[in-house]
Amino acid sequence: MILKIVKYPEPVLQQAGQEITEFGDELRQFVADMFETMYASQGIGLAAQQVGVPKRVTVIDLSQGQDPAQKLVLINPKVIHREGKQYEEEGCLSFPEIREKVSRAARVKVRAQNEKGEWFELDGDELLARAFQHEIDHLDGVLFIFRMSALKRSLNLRKIRKLQSEGKW
Ligand SMILES: [Zn+2]
Repeated sequence: MILKIVKYPEPVLQQAGQEITEFGDELRQFVADMFETMYASQGIGLAAQQVGVPKRVTVIDLSQGQDPAQKLVLINPKVIHREGKQYEEEGCLSFPEIREKVSRAARVKVRAQNEKGEWFELDGDELLARAFQHEIDHLDGVLFIFRMSALKRSLNLRKIRKLQSEGKW
C-alpha cells in the first residue's frame, strides 16, 4: 500500500522517533509499505516520520528497486562511527523541489536491527553515507534544512513559503 508522504512543516517531521520493540507482522507490513511508497516517489530513502509515523524505522535503496541486494531496512539505527567530510547536494521527499548542498561525514558505520530484531553493522561512503545520515537524522526529528547554512536555510524557507502561497506545496 502506498502511504501518504507528509511535507514540511508537518509537525511529525520534527518529532524524534520511538524505538521499535515489536518485531512482528505489523512491522514487516509497514516496511513493505514504506518501500512501495519510496519507489512510487523515485526516492532512495524514506523515514517513518515522512509517512506520519514517529518511529525509528527507515528504508534505503540507492538502486531505486533495480537491485534487490541494495534494499536496506534499518530499525533503531545509530551512527556509531563517522570520518571525513563531504559536501554534496541532497533532496528530500518531504521537501519537493528543494535541493541543496549539505555537509556530512564522508564515511559512516551504522548499527541497526533488521525486521527480525537482529543487530547488524554496515559501512557506507559517498551517497550511501549521506543516505544513512539523512535518514537517521529524520528518525531524530532533524531535517536537512537545519544542516544547511543559515543563509541557504532562509532562502529555501522563503521559496517554500512562496510555493505554499501559490498552492504548489
Ligand atoms: Zn528526507
